[in-house]
Amino acid sequence: MKRYSAFAIAREALRYHSGWERAWRAPEPKAKYDVIIVGAGGHGLATAYYLGKRFGITNVAVLEKGWLGGGNTGRNTTIIRSNYLQDPSAAIYEKSRSLYEELSQELNYNVMFSPRGVIMLAQTQHEVRGYLRTAHANALQDVKTEFIGPAKVKELVPIIDIDGPRYPVLGGLWQARGGTARHDAVAWGYARACSAMGMDIIQKCEVKAIRQQGGKVTGVDTTKGPIDCDQLGIVVAGHSGVLAEMAGFRLPIESVALQALVSEPIKPCMDVVVMANTVHGYMSQSDKGEMVIGGGTDGYNNYTQRGSFHHIEETVRALIETFPMISRLKMLRQWGGIVDITGDRSPILSKTPVEGIFINCGWGTGGFKAIPGSGWGMAELIAKGHSPLTEAFSLDRFREGRFIDESVAAGVAH
Ligand SMILES: Cc1cc2nc3c(=O)[nH]c(=O)nc-3n(C[C@H](O)[C@H](O)[C@H](O)COP(=O)(O)OP(=O)(O)OC[C@H]3O[C@@H](n4cnc5c(N)ncnc54)[C@H](O)[C@@H]3O)c2cc1C
Repeated sequence: MKRYSAFAIAREALRYHSGWERAWRAPEPKAKYDVIIVGAGGHGLATAYYLGKRFGITNVAVLEKGWLGGGNTGRNTTIIRSNYLQDPSAAIYEKSRSLYEELSQELNYNVMFSPRGVIMLAQTQHEVRGYLRTAHANALQDVKTEFIGPAKVKELVPIIDIDGPRYPVLGGLWQARGGTARHDAVAWGYARACSAMGMDIIQKCEVKAIRQQGGKVTGVDTTKGPIDCDQLGIVVAGHSGVLAEMAGFRLPIESVALQALVSEPIKPCMDVVVMANTVHGYMSQSDKGEMVIGGGTDGYNNYTQRGSFHHIEETVRALIETFPMISRLKMLRQWGGIVDITGDRSPILSKTPVEGIFINCGWGTGGFKAIPGSGWGMAELIAKGHSPLTEAFSLDRFREGRFIDESVAAGVAH
């Protein structure tokens, strides 16, 4: 793989860009791999990347039924933060956020990480108390956040109406090094680095069945034929329940549609990310100038990638209340993804009842921010059978009642 650099751009400019190589190979599957990862979203690709980078395991295939990054990874609103309440969450999300800081250099691919700052607005006394508690917890966890007052919120976000018709802004939980990154670039950067290590990323290859013998995984049947493996990672977000059923176990997961929308581009007017949990809406401005708006989850289980129409109205109504100046903006596009939600709003990174099968899912409405940290921990779990980062997130917690309740941190979909 040739490195991307300023020199390479200059060289290609002089020869009409004829020398760029494909970012990743498009191989046919081999008969057998040491590890197969199902799902070429951010989490699957990051898992494969750190398997190679940290543990030298490169006889790896990542199988994707569609195109890589075409699931939730390419559909989210790209918010990155680590201001969670519980210690295991803070550990994995902060590991992830800190990996994002260096990811462009690490992958030699510009993921456009923009640590512009994230505010979670407190608009009720209940939220003030909740976020103060989170700020104190974050101080103990070495995660840098602070609770700020309404005047500081207004200074950071001049377009906000802090008096609000229904809910005045009483303050906010501010994480200055939270922000956004370019979602496709995260998937593409990891894919390119995996391919360069000799791993096979096989698109349009749907896993239809999982084979096992004596309680141990032996391979998968796919639309491109059978492929054997010693270990299997299931990293398919909204389809986790479907894959688990193929392997013969059940997951405490619900799949629902979550949607987002963007406005027409306008001049720069907001350089931080704002989330308003009480009225339910969140917004940031993309580099192109579009206002990127996150909606809510559907109230019923489904596998559509659209989302219900009434949520658009609810979300836009909530945001107009918070940012009156957007009331005359035209909305350009709307889309949805299928998110995988657990009862305690925390992910599952775990061994499973089948030897050799590992599962990484349950990131729900907020897993983009966790991609590097999840891949880091999941790779360790697969390679060594144990990872301090993933230990608390095992499937056992649902049997033993050790829930990692993040309903406050994940109270708004993001
Ligand atoms: C509208 C929306 C907004 C969001 N906003 C944010 C946000 O602001 N911040 C944040 O942190 N998170 C956000 N999220 C959540 C985040 O996008 C996800 O948690 C994250 O992208 C999940 O990544 P993944 O790799 O696990 O899943 P995906 O990216 O969905 O990848 C899973 C892949 O598995 C493939 N697959 C499924 N079944 C099979 C099969 N049988 N065989 C082969 N391949 C298969 C799928 O095609 C898919 O490509 C949002 C999500 C949505 C939908």
